[in-house]
Amino acid sequence: MSAQLREAEGRPPDDVLRVTGLSKRYASLLAVDRVSFIVRRREIVGLLGPNGAGKTTTINMILGVLAPSSGTVHVAGFDLARQRARALARANFAAVYAALPGNLTVAQNLRVFGLIYGVRGLAARIDSLLAEFGLERLRDKKCGVLSSGEQTRVALAKAMLNRPELLLLDEPTASLDPSAAQAARARVKRLAREGSCGVLWTSHNMYEVEEVCDRVLFLSRGRILLEGDPRALPHEHGARSLEELFIRFAREPLEVRDSPDSRESLDSGEPLGAREPPDERDSR
Ligand code: ATP
Repeated sequence: MSAQLREAEGRPPDDVLRVTGLSKRYASLLAVDRVSFIVRRREIVGLLGPNGAGKTTTINMILGVLAPSSGTVHVAGFDLARQRARALARANFAAVYAALPGNLTVAQNLRVFGLIYGVRGLAARIDSLLAEFGLERLRDKKCGVLSSGEQTRVALAKAMLNRPELLLLDEPTASLDPSAAQAARARVKRLAREGSCGVLWTSHNMYEVEEVCDRVLFLSRGRILLEGDPRALPHEHGARSLEELFIRFAREPLEVRDSPDSRESLDSGEPLGAREPPDERDSR
């Protein structure tokens, strides 16, 4: 069924994120170079790539905090450039570099963001998120004095306040201890599987990526060079693990770019992932 027909019937499109031909130029550097991909509902997509590949730049354009040099972003069918408020109301994000105001307590921060998002039944929603992220005993502590792992948990709770259809997580478990990281992964997986949310997740932890992501996109020098199931990709490319494939790919990106499959994806102009039906989520 076409997206237009679906919209005409009042049904939201399956792809919560559609990025088409997105580029960002900084002077002579093309930080993001004609990137196209989609994220479907109930799908967790990993955005992988070496330092400086363009992951954060891509996320910042999807969040509307950075203007693209060219290309379009649609969130739940809404064009970010033309229907900005409607698109952004359906998204949320968490990242270690985007700290919450440190002079507000945990509960105050969640209340302020909840009011900004227009969350209904806000007090009950805050209580449930505080319980879910083990933050009850920290509710009246100022965010500025929390440990980095505690701050990350608050950021994840904040990211879920408005029950987003698109969740952008930039290295969400980077400062979490193994137990807290496992709990955060489980929470996001549950959110994706049980709700109607799609997730774009960046991480340098390949163990985590294999555990969490249904599909990964490898970005290098601003271009998507490879896409697939993180559990199948290593075998398909003669590597023993995703980590080994990542390291090889980060050092020799041009070799991977020349593979017939990736060339087809790059040249088709169609968002990556748009041609295959979503995997069954039961296997997660
Ligand atoms: P990391 O894994 O290290 O977080 P990344 O994939 O998120 O890296 P980006 O932060 O998107 O990478 O940066 C992509 C490229 O764009 C880098 O070469 C970076 O130096 C450059 N860059 C980012 N922001 C700017 C800016 N404001 N001005 C100039 N260059 C920039």
